[in-house]
This record gives sequence, structure tokens and C-alpha cells, in this order.
Amino acid sequence: MSLYDSITQAVPQIARGKVWCCTCGRMERVDGADALRHGWPKCCGYTMTIDSPQWRAAQAKKARDAALKECGG
Ligand SMILES: [Zn+2]
Repeated sequence: MSLYDSITQAVPQIARGKVWCCTCGRMERVDGADALRHGWPKCCGYTMTIDSPQWRAAQAKKARDAALKECGG
């Protein structure tokens, strides 16, 4: 097994083989080990993310809730 295959299997976000564009929202299937070897896919001029839109929305909500708490609700 190559180093890239080990990394791919160790990171669930890479193992599921999907990336998203943060700008236009396009989803693309990707072979994680292949992408690590040859370069990560890009869209709209930016590297695509392994974080799903749902996950990013949840993170944004968490950050917003934390900010509200800091300001006293
Ligand atoms: Zn795009």
C-alpha cells in the first residue's frame, strides 16, 4: 500500500471520494489517493474542499452561536 493510499484511508473525508466547490457548489467525484499524487481538483479558480456543504453550514452555525454567546446572547 502506498503512502497516499494510507492517507486516503485514514481521513474519512478523503475516503468518501467527494469534493465540493466553495464558490459555485459543484460536487465532483475524486479518487483521494490519485488527487494527493497528481494535485487536488480545482473549480472557479480555487481548490475544492473535502468538507460537505452540510458540514460547513453546521460549522458556520456553531461559530454564529458562539459569537452570540460572547455578546451576552
Ligand atoms: Zn466552482
